[in-house]
Amino acid sequence: MAIRPERIVIVGGDAAGMSAAAQLRRMRPEVEIVAFERGHHTSYALCGLPYYVAGYVDDTAQLVARTPEAHRRNGIDVRLRTEVVALDLERREVVAYDHERHREYREPFDQLVLATGARPRRLALPGRDAAGIFTLHSLEDAEALATWLQQERPRRAVVVGGGYIGIEAAEAFRARGLETTLIEAAPHVMPLLDPDMAELVEQALRADQVTVLTGTPVEAFATRNGRVTGVLTPHGEVPADVVVIGIGVEPNSDLARDAGIALGDRNAIHVDQHCRTSVPGVWAAGDCADAYHRLLGRSVYFPLGTTANKQGRICGLNLGGRPARFPGIVGTAITRFGETEIARTGLSEREARESGFSIVVGNARSTTRSGYFPGASWMTVKMVAEEGTGRLLGAQIVGGPGAGKRIDTVATALTAGMTLEEFIYLDLAYAPPFSPVWDPVVVAARKLAREV
Ligand code: FAD
Repeated sequence: MAIRPERIVIVGGDAAGMSAAAQLRRMRPEVEIVAFERGHHTSYALCGLPYYVAGYVDDTAQLVARTPEAHRRNGIDVRLRTEVVALDLERREVVAYDHERHREYREPFDQLVLATGARPRRLALPGRDAAGIFTLHSLEDAEALATWLQQERPRRAVVVGGGYIGIEAAEAFRARGLETTLIEAAPHVMPLLDPDMAELVEQALRADQVTVLTGTPVEAFATRNGRVTGVLTPHGEVPADVVVIGIGVEPNSDLARDAGIALGDRNAIHVDQHCRTSVPGVWAAGDCADAYHRLLGRSVYFPLGTTANKQGRICGLNLGGRPARFPGIVGTAITRFGETEIARTGLSEREARESGFSIVVGNARSTTRSGYFPGASWMTVKMVAEEGTGRLLGAQIVGGPGAGKRIDTVATALTAGMTLEEFIYLDLAYAPPFSPVWDPVVVAARKLAREV
């Protein structure tokens, strides 16, 4: 009897799943790789959706990094429009439903990678199904929103949720010239920032004529003839011809939970640093899974494309026979509103205190280039360090063009476990068009070092 090749089944055809598949294919040409994707696309960039809606990107096709055909040419058996509806871990099979042929079948696996991503959280409120209300979590969502903007010519937009997707949606609406209101239930926008830094983001929004309503829970959507006409809040109705809801995501972990695989923080699939789940031979990566946080020393749910690609690669390496361990995240993220760049890494002041650290905290205002150099703009850096040791714990940046990516220097320092004193003397590049002679992140560290 012929021995059949090992079969690896992957559920989810985007960043995490296809990174795993591509890495594995490079290392082991002989294994069968079957990737199930319930949607129409593989390897697409959700991160680009707001910029497509804004009109900076012409076509969603530009957001597809690798088509199903390209993956197939690489020897990956991509089954599009096919949803895995159950896992039979005893028989080591997945149950798949083909949405095109309307049939269910079983596919055996030797090893399984769960890369099912996340879904947008929904508001279970009256009027939520009205035409003109959108989420922004798939190419189809973005296309539907862009079509609405083009055909219905809305004048007034409301964004519900002031996290990074909400902020990016607000930029898209302003780029299209819409009157824009951003509604956030929490006391400030950007919950991953401390309130003092979030205040700077709110100032930038207001400076571009976005009405910002914080501490304002949405209660219902007003509709007429099935179309949205407004958003109801305790402070009254905000008129709206189009609404985007961006109130966060939750992991697609139901398949795993139903099969008895252990879940962790916020119901994400719990993985160890090798991306193994609690069941041998079953791996998970990306937005459906948690990730080890290097500063907290435990796993957290912090879904981002950066981590999805890395965890996918780790799965691929391990499946390919080269043992690999994901060292973990430090909680780095970046976004922008117009010219204002917003970034964070490590622990915010609130997170550090809640996690039991004794900390010192400082802010520094500086410029992105030498103050006299054309194009210099202001930026604020907030830094958090451990009291006594001076170990860096985190930073947040809000500022003009060139400010945000400086967070990477701090992320690198956090990864290396550096103290403020070590950080201050890093040999960072300087010339007037790029920074002041002391880089703004170092200015913040110098100020804070006096407090330790
Ligand atoms: P996903 O990209 O969600 O892919 C999961 C795939 O699995 C989907 O294609 C889904 O259809 C499929 N699937 C799910 N269940 C099944 C099933 N049962 N059977 C078959 N297929 C299934 N991250 C950043 O780092 N930087 C950014 O700037 C950034 N911007 C973003 C902007 C927006 C608007 C959004 C929505 C996200 C953004 N992200 C950003 C987050 C980033 O896109 C995600 O972290 C990343 O896509 C996660 O990749 P993934 O493969 O884990 O999950």
